[in-house]
Amino acid sequence: MLLDPPRKSAHTRGCSVSALMESTSVTQESIVEGLKNHEFITCFQPKIDLQTDQFSGAETLVRWQTPQWGLLQPGQFIDQVQAYGLMDALTCQVLAQACDLIVAWPRDLPSLRLSVNISATSLQDSENINRWREILDSRWILPSQILLELTETTFVANDLELLEALTRLRIAGFGVSLDDFGTGFTSLKQLRTLPVTELKIDRSFIHDASTQSRPAIVLDSIINVAKRLRITTVAEGIETIEDATYLTDLGCKIGQGYYFSRPLPADRLILWLRQRQREQDSKHA
Ligand code: C2E
Ligand code: MG
Ligand code: MG
Ligand code: MG
Repeated sequence: MLLDPPRKSAHTRGCSVSALMESTSVTQESIVEGLKNHEFITCFQPKIDLQTDQFSGAETLVRWQTPQWGLLQPGQFIDQVQAYGLMDALTCQVLAQACDLIVAWPRDLPSLRLSVNISATSLQDSENINRWREILDSRWILPSQILLELTETTFVANDLELLEALTRLRIAGFGVSLDDFGTGFTSLKQLRTLPVTELKIDRSFIHDASTQSRPAIVLDSIINVAKRLRITTVAEGIETIEDATYLTDLGCKIGQGYYFSRPLPADRLILWLRQRQREQDSKHA
């Protein structure tokens, strides 16, 4: 998708995101330049074990620090990266940054497991798994320290190809998470056969469920089916204490959302966790 050519930067300063989008021309060349110059940076959003209140890793989320338009969010460039066939290159850079954080992670903090978003189209090229393994191997990181998140709406392969691709990921040792569950085509029935380790329930269910009864019944069913299949449930988009309490009571294992923390740069994530641990220690002292 090509947008209008860029206007003068003075024109876009202080404008809303949609105005910025209109004036942003994310061309193939600008993405290639961005990849070459390492303009794609990562933030990390904490995941919390709702049942124990412990830190349970983080999700790696990409941002693009452009020289011409400032900081862009994934919604402003991911589709274009995909359309220009540059997703595999971006995924490798994001995965490398996630691995670098695992290497640099302070030893006194609980060990770090990171989620990384991948596009389903990356699964069609089986060479990608080897590339990802190399990124990990060169840093002495085990695949079990990485959870690959797949958005179910991006599944392009048929059921059998998907099953084979996910099986390859599991054999390689990666955790596999189904992202935005409930918005796409994967049914609870398919969960029985797909070798996934984690189910990320879409944000849209979370908020509706704590306020309305019908979505709550759906959510309850998803959590219970996943539990019986020994698949970890994650609720994304937890924004309020009501959301958190509600999901905890339903037996959801892990929570993620603005209520706990926004996505943070690596150094801020470490500070955030230290602060959180100090608060927990003083509560229990
Ligand atoms: P996602 O994987 O479902 O990630 C969750 C998105 O929800 C993130 O948006 C996150 O900042 C946002 N979020 C987290 N907590 C809350 C909350 O409490 N309330 C609300 N309203 N939003 C919350 P972000 O970072 O803009 O990413 C959007 C999407 O872009 C991601 O959705 C993912 O599908 C895609 N994406 C992000 N990074 C990558 C990447 O490295 N590779 C690929 N292929 N896709 C990525
Ligand atoms: Mg995700
Ligand atoms: Mg998600
Ligand atoms: Mg979502």
